[in-house]
Amino acid sequence: MATNGMLASIRQLPGVGEKRAAVFSRLHIATLGDLLSHYPRTYENRKTCKRIIDLQHEETTCIKAVVFSAVKTSVIRKNMRVHTARVSDGTGFLDLVWFNNRFIEQKLKKGETYIFYGKVRLSPKRQMQTPLFEVPGAQKQTGRIFPIYPLTEGLSDGFFASCTEQALSLLQGQITDTLPQKVREAYGLCDLETALQNIHFPTDRTGYESARRRLAFEELFLFQSALLTLKKNGKRASTASMSASPLPFIQSLPYALTNAQERVIREITADLYSSTVMNRLVCGDVGSGKTAVAAAAIYTAVKSGFQAAFMAPTEILATQHYKSLSVFYANHGIKIELLLGSMSASARAAAVERLASGESHVAVGTHALFSEKVTFHSLGLAITDEQHRFGVNQRHLLSQKGENPHVLVMSATPIPRTLALIVYGDLDVSLIDELPPGRQKIDTFAVTEQYRKRIYTFIQKELDAGRQAYIVCPLIEENEALELQAATDYAKKLQESVFPGYSIGLLHGKMKNAEKDAVMAQFKNGELQLLVATTVIEVGVDVPNATIMLIENAERFGLSQLHQLRGRIGRGEHKSYCILINQSKHEAAKERLLVMQEQSDGFKIAEEDLKQRGPGEFFGTRQHGLPDFKIVNIYSDMPLLQETTRAAQDFVEERLTCTREEKQALYEKMNALFNNRVTFNKNFY
Ligand code: ADP
Ligand code: MG
Repeated sequence: MATNGMLASIRQLPGVGEKRAAVFSRLHIATLGDLLSHYPRTYENRKTCKRIIDLQHEETTCIKAVVFSAVKTSVIRKNMRVHTARVSDGTGFLDLVWFNNRFIEQKLKKGETYIFYGKVRLSPKRQMQTPLFEVPGAQKQTGRIFPIYPLTEGLSDGFFASCTEQALSLLQGQITDTLPQKVREAYGLCDLETALQNIHFPTDRTGYESARRRLAFEELFLFQSALLTLKKNGKRASTASMSASPLPFIQSLPYALTNAQERVIREITADLYSSTVMNRLVCGDVGSGKTAVAAAAIYTAVKSGFQAAFMAPTEILATQHYKSLSVFYANHGIKIELLLGSMSASARAAAVERLASGESHVAVGTHALFSEKVTFHSLGLAITDEQHRFGVNQRHLLSQKGENPHVLVMSATPIPRTLALIVYGDLDVSLIDELPPGRQKIDTFAVTEQYRKRIYTFIQKELDAGRQAYIVCPLIEENEALELQAATDYAKKLQESVFPGYSIGLLHGKMKNAEKDAVMAQFKNGELQLLVATTVIEVGVDVPNATIMLIENAERFGLSQLHQLRGRIGRGEHKSYCILINQSKHEAAKERLLVMQEQSDGFKIAEEDLKQRGPGEFFGTRQHGLPDFKIVNIYSDMPLLQETTRAAQDFVEERLTCTREEKQALYEKMNALFNNRVTFNKNFY
């Protein structure tokens, strides 16, 4: 066995050959350590036997009984054989039933006593269906609290549990703890071996709870230590020390900044002036004016003699930022380049050349901008917009590019403070918690199908008055082809039978970037009155004349996503309306949508969303910045988070006494957390 037994292959286990190992690999289990960190999803109490006389209809339990008649097999139809046996424990009898089980006749012996575990029915017949059974004294799957795992085809609970049990006994006394002893002592946590033993085979509730606490603590502690280490390592000496004032830019704006915008610009400027590199997140609700804040930062960088890069998740957004900056800097002598994947090679080469020579000051583009060979003359500031779409990995790839610029991240996903610790624990955070004045509240209505006619009439009235409208298509989970079909059909139907004579455009994720841009441009300049779209419009496109958004099947969206979508309207001088059509009959769905009707504060909506759906759903499958925690439940483990934050801070600030081995174990785990793409312990070994 390898020195670290946790790294030994599961092939070590009896019964696990090539075939089984392949099945395990579908669960991402290759080593004994992987196996032991595949935790049960639930447990069954198979500890005690009930008397037959006491059995309840439909309960699942153990009985201890003697087989009273040999197994009888009857063929009830082709390919369907039923085996029955009658058992008794002196208080009553029960018939046991199996289907198509070739071995049962040999295995179950008349006159012998067994422990049976299964689901009981008392009517119409007194039966236990397909029970598992064991000989008393040689029990493995009964007589204990039994773990039930999330499994895949080809693995049974019994086999899996026997594997974990054998792994635990193979590794007995060899499981090195991954939490430093001082941390375990300070927070009252059991050692890893005990925790693993108890999470797989708890003997009682207390054992289970202390195991769970210890494992969840470790998971959070590691993740937070990793983020805080990144934050600390990010505090490198800056080579781009800046000194220009953003004031001339601010004074040239057509509006006065909000207090929140001013405060955040001050925070950013202080970072840019300081001697360490900035790593800051600006978090602000949709419409809070993040672009102007970014523009002020870029202005400061350029006027201090540096270049800046501004990265957006889509070409539409990059183009929009490019246009905004062009207007902002019209009289400031700042030269901007737009870099898109869809540009011609020669146009791009020319732009790249102007950036490399320092002739141009700012590069705006999608993140292709950074992955390709764009070199700067003197990059001093890198801004990424709508960061909730990128994970920690991507964030740090950028800052590891060698240029070492100041980094500003902008997010429009308001997230609860507590969660920010986990998602953005590696950054300093600035909040724009105020909207520009004069923004009217968007009137929001959650309605049923019955109102459709009236809604269409209302939309027509607004279009006739010169306004524009978005219609967001039914969301079809994870199926782009279906979603596309639905959007296309729906747009066609609207054009033919509801809005003939109006100009309708269609926007969806499968379109080429150039097509998307063309449609968006048409909508923006008013050629299109109505835009039927999938959720591709959720990110940041600014059309102030659009005043209505109708969202179909609103019950299928998360609240935060609805809020994000709604942020596309209410951006101009006209009153705006958001209509949510709810197709669900469930009371809960109705109540959820009422939150949208009443609440316009993105942070409050985010908190409500998190509470209702839990973090996985909250961030959506495609856009979360959270790791896949194995045991932590972000919502219910919030109290634990305070303790782990403290412990992680102590570790990273080196206030914690731990041995070299303990540190090394932690660093190894931290590296693995980000698939070794970010290294935490460069100077350690
Ligand atoms: P977001 O934070 O969603 O990126 P934007 O930067 O796109 O928001 O700004 C939304 C709208 O608000 C834009 O039309 C912008 O011109 C306007 N805006 C930004 N700041 C102010 C302000 N202080 N006063 C008035 N309007 C503002
Ligand atoms: Mg924006």
